[in-house]
Amino acid sequence: MTTTHPQYAYFQGSIVPIEQAKVSVMTHAFNYGTGVFGGLRGYWNADAEQLYVFRPREHMTRLLQSAHLLRMEIPHTAESLATVLQELLQAEGYTQNCYIRPVVYKADEIIGVRLHDLAADVTMFSIPMGDYLRTDGIHAHISAWRRVDDNMIPARGKVTGAYANSSLIKTDAVLSGYDEALVLNDDGHLSEASAANIFMVRNGTVITPPRNANVLEGIVRRSVIQLMRDEMHLTVEERNIDRTEVYLADEVFLCGTGVQMAGVTKIDHRPVGDGAIGPITRELTDLFMDVVYGRSERYMDWVMPVFQRERVGR
Ligand code: PMP
Repeated sequence: MTTTHPQYAYFQGSIVPIEQAKVSVMTHAFNYGTGVFGGLRGYWNADAEQLYVFRPREHMTRLLQSAHLLRMEIPHTAESLATVLQELLQAEGYTQNCYIRPVVYKADEIIGVRLHDLAADVTMFSIPMGDYLRTDGIHAHISAWRRVDDNMIPARGKVTGAYANSSLIKTDAVLSGYDEALVLNDDGHLSEASAANIFMVRNGTVITPPRNANVLEGIVRRSVIQLMRDEMHLTVEERNIDRTEVYLADEVFLCGTGVQMAGVTKIDHRPVGDGAIGPITRELTDLFMDVVYGRSERYMDWVMPVFQRERVGR
């Protein structure tokens, strides 16, 4: 018999059946977008019979930092949230890839626009999320929308309300026949995609927008910068990218927890490089997949095993 997921959620301090994890229509975060969230992936390694979660402490640290930006303090550390995540996934008993969504939110049921004097709560749930499929490359356009600016809504925080911006960007791209959008910031420089960070390769150098270009400080972004420098011995620059520079790039790829690694082969109807996924993108994708599936000895500290085997002594 196949099990349907999710069966459980972490809600109001304990793991409960998913049907019991409900908030009111009056909840502040539902009305005003005053929540922050994270997104993590679990990778099922069939050979090791283990589910590996990619960099949970880094994700939970960013979640707590996002919460701090919205003046939310919760009685948790990154470590304790990683433990909750582990217990939740153990309860689900996944033997397939999955995605985990923690949310910290203004839980008071009141009317009134503000951040102070409001209680915060934390919830977490997970869903199965399919295997990685290598695509033949995606077609992106430059969005007519601008990326949310840090002086409007903190760009480096994953604020629920800010995802109205991402949703406008994604929907206009898809309804216009593109797979994805590249988004400029208010300065007119490239920021990222709708929910992924962006890299381009020009003449062998890898370039990505800096952290002060209104990007979300992606965990995958940080990880692939390290992999490209340490394992592929590439030069990676963090600097502003102009709109027309991506038209002239040899390779462009997006990365993030959701998209994982995605080669961009066409931008605004112009082929990127020779129009195929490039060699750096391919090599990095293979390297990244080995790391997230717990197949890379050197990066085992980047994955947390969920089930109790010899590496989890509890
Ligand atoms: N930018 C945005 C707007 C996102 O929502 C995401 C996904 N969290 C990313 C970038 C990539 O971040 P990460 O690598 O931490 O998943």
